[in-house]
Parts: sequence; C-alpha cells; structure tokens
Amino acid sequence: AVVAVVRWRSPLEWNGEGTTKHFSEIFLGRCFVYTQIIRPELRNKDCTQIMAAFKGAFISKNPCSITKEDYQPLIQLDTKAVPCNKTLFWSKSKDLAHQYTWVHGNIFTLEDTLLGYIADDLTWCGDPSTSEVNEQSCPHWKKDNCPNNAASVFWKVVSQKFAEAACGVVQVMLNGSLSEPFYRNSTFGSVELLNLNPRKVHTLQAWVMHDIGGATSNSCSGSSLNELKLIAMSRNITFVCQDNY
Ligand code: NAD
Repeated sequence: AVVAVVRWRSPLEWNGEGTTKHFSEIFLGRCFVYTQIIRPELRNKDCTQIMAAFKGAFISKNPCSITKEDYQPLIQLDTKAVPCNKTLFWSKSKDLAHQYTWVHGNIFTLEDTLLGYIADDLTWCGDPSTSEVNEQSCPHWKKDNCPNNAASVFWKVVSQKFAEAACGVVQVMLNGSLSEPFYRNSTFGSVELLNLNPRKVHTLQAWVMHDIGGATSNSCSGSSLNELKLIAMSRNITFVCQDNY
C-alpha cells in the first residue's frame, strides 16, 4: 500500500539556503546588465515586468507545489532563441562550459540567455503565509523530498524550452573525470536530450573533458558515452564524440 505522509513545516525548517539576500536588486541588476549591455537588441525588454512574472510563479505558494504552468507567464516574455548550431549544453562541467562560451563569444549555454543569466546561482522560494520571499530557508532539491520546488521547476522549464528551440548541430560538454560523464537522471539526460527536436537537430556533438592531471577513467569509447550515443541514435540524431578537444 502507498501511504502519503503530509507534514506541516515552519518556514525555518527547510534544509536549503534561504532566498538569496537582495534577490530583487540582483534580479533587476542582472536583467538590466543583460538587456542594456550584453544584448542591447533586447533593450526594450521590461525588467520590472519580467521580475513580476518570475515572482508570480512562486510568491505566496507552497514551495513544494510549484508547477510548470506557474512559470508560463514568465516564459512567454522571453522570446529570443539561440541561432542554429550555437547551443551548448553541459553536465557537471559548468565552469569550463561558461569559460568556453565567454571566450568564444558566439556559442550559448542556457546561462548565456536572459532567464538563465538572471537566475544562475540564485536561490528563491516563497511561503503561503506571506507575499515576501523566504530568506530563512528554502527546500533543498535533494534533502527535502520536494522535487517540485520553485528552483527545480524553473530550471526544468527553461532547460526544456532551451532544448526545444535548438537547431542544427548541438553540443554538449561532459565531465570525463567522472565515472558517468553522461548521467541519465541529470537535467541534460532527462530534460534537454529528450526535448531536442529531431526534425530540427541533426547532430549531437559531445565534448568529453577530463580534469587536467585528473582521472581519465571515461571517454568517448566508454559505456556511459555509449549510452548517450544509443539514445541519440534512437531519436534519429547523429552522434559525434571527441575527447579533450
Ligand atoms: P549538473 O548535474 O552539473 O547540474 C547543474 C546544476 O543544477 C548544479 O548546481 C546542480 O546542483 C543543479 N541541479 C541539477 N538538477 C537539479 C534539480 N532537479 N533541482 C535543482 N537543482 C538542480 O548538470 P545537469 O543536471 O545536467 O544540468 C545542466 C544542464 O541543464 C545544462 O545544460 C543547463 O542548460 C541546464 N541547467 C542549468 C542549471 C543552472 O544552475 N544554471 C540548473 C539546472 C539545469
């Protein structure tokens, strides 16, 4: 028998860090930096409206019951897609991936798009009893048995949209110093890979990067990358892999 346990928790009881201090100021600051300086073609975006839509997704709500629909008003404000052949996914290789897109200038991770740029490394959640963000604590996506928390649902929604919009050759940077560089339950494995549209994406190019001086246990010829290859092929997407490009 399946028994559902419903627990009441005070706002202080979550196991994750609370909403980032000065969340609104950081949100608006990043939004203005992105829309005025990084991509001036977006200078007419309304950052106040974007923040209102973002907060509307989770403010005054149970922080474990956020839905994809809660983020739809926000998603509809972000219209600019990445050009074909310029999308880079990553998994357990965030710093290197971002250094690469920064130096390259014409390849984009999710965090090089407006919503990813604004939200990266921030924490946020609300509480049904107040219209403020909860700065005391937020559900931890693993420790609190709360998969539908505000941040996880956000990343799922924006990752899915980012993947659906990709076209041409898409790239993924993976961490070859791990025993499983491709991990099926990661956001890349469970959301992005499965939402590539085979009618638009003809090739998946994987870059498997090892830590300098670190383990080289896995590579393009290993079983983990083979699993990725099989999934890509089953979706009619050509798979190409290169070690330590
Ligand atoms: P990963 O395992 O390196 O995770 C990336 C980050 O997201 C880590 O900080 C991890 O702690 C966190 N994370 C992963 N799953 C989460 C979840 N369900 N809820 C809350 N946080 C979670 O790599 P991944 O899982 O494959 O995700 C990376 C890919 O997905 C990238 O291609 C990117 O487009 C997108 N993504 C980005 C972020 C981000 O924080 N910028 C978060 C999730 C997903």
